Amino acid sequence: MSGLLVIAEQRRGELRPVSLELVTAAQKLRRGAEEVGVAVIGAAPEKLVAPLSVAGVDEIVTVKVAAPEFDPDTFEAAVSALIAQRKPDVVLVAHSVDSFGYAAALAAKLGLGFATDVFDAQRIDGELVATRGGYGQKVNVEVDFPGRSTVLLAVRGNVFKPPEQPASPRVAAFEIPAISSRATGREFVELAAGDDVDMTGAEFILTIGRGIGEESNVAQFRELADAIGATLGCSRPIADAGWLPKSRQVGQSGKTASACKLYIAMGVSGAIQHLAGMKHVSTIVAVNSDAEASIFGVATYGIVGDIFEVAEELRRLF
Ligand SMILES: Cc1cc2nc3c(=O)[nH]c(=O)nc-3n(C[C@H](O)[C@H](O)[C@H](O)COP(=O)(O)OP(=O)(O)OC[C@H]3O[C@@H](n4cnc5c(N)ncnc54)[C@H](O)[C@@H]3O)c2cc1C
Repeated sequence: MSGLLVIAEQRRGELRPVSLELVTAAQKLRRGAEEVGVAVIGAAPEKLVAPLSVAGVDEIVTVKVAAPEFDPDTFEAAVSALIAQRKPDVVLVAHSVDSFGYAAALAAKLGLGFATDVFDAQRIDGELVATRGGYGQKVNVEVDFPGRSTVLLAVRGNVFKPPEQPASPRVAAFEIPAISSRATGREFVELAAGDDVDMTGAEFILTIGRGIGEESNVAQFRELADAIGATLGCSRPIADAGWLPKSRQVGQSGKTASACKLYIAMGVSGAIQHLAGMKHVSTIVAVNSDAEASIFGVATYGIVGDIFEVAEELRRLF
């Protein structure tokens, strides 16, 4: 068994950014002359050859299937056939709603080593070690896979930086027999307009937490965010209360502020689940009336004070 196989992810013919991030994750695990292959499974896989032609990819394998949308049975059968033919020692898929549908079943059926929500992976003394969160992200867990000749890793998005350099990998078509799927696609529903802010791509975020007190106060922080050019984010209680859409929630069960360079947290206590989505940001400004709030533990600059007063001061400046 050798080599790494990335399973590209797409939505309606558009390559999802995580696909290229998986290529970077694969590079970390590559040993010597091992090859990184990327399989693209879909009704028109050849259309994704160009965006997948990046540094670090040795070969792109197109797998044409009848299913027009993602289909778990089709992916399970296609990836299973690819593993049987190529015998990779590591297969990387996105930790996503798609892989939830087939990766665990595939790992169980083929007896693969398996880890989900992986945010780091390395070789230690030649052995693959994957890192994922445990106990609700309170600890990092290192997982190894003794005795497994192939390991399937579902890798968290927005962790690995995608390669930018173009390249010219080999392209091969891989034929698989027709697959009869148990699933039938009925309808594709886009997120409602206004609920589609991309927190992961925002470079400057102003996040509000329960410290804002009540829903009617959201508007003034929205105005402040607009005035200073920030994307408005929130902690989970704000999203749970429906004061802001879920798409704006930062944290473990929300979005990771991956591209963020400046993060202002107002009235956010800094629970571990919130920190999971933002503690990596290079400049964090925290405003909280409680000097003992955990958020100050990750803040670059901290203001112990009232968020409404600070907001008003900031508003005066802009
Ligand atoms: C499985 C799981 C997943 C979770 N996922 C997430 C997640 O993705 N994102 C997330 O955010 N949470 C998540 N949580 C919830 C998390 O544990 C916390 O409950 C939440 O982050 C707290 O939000 P908060 O900081 O806004 O509220 P609080 O913890 O209530 O903090 C409010 C803060 O505001 C301060 N404050 C109050 N009034 C003022 C004022 N006038 N001026 C200044 N400061 C003031 C207080 O001192 C306090 O520190 C998750 C929990 C679980 C169990």
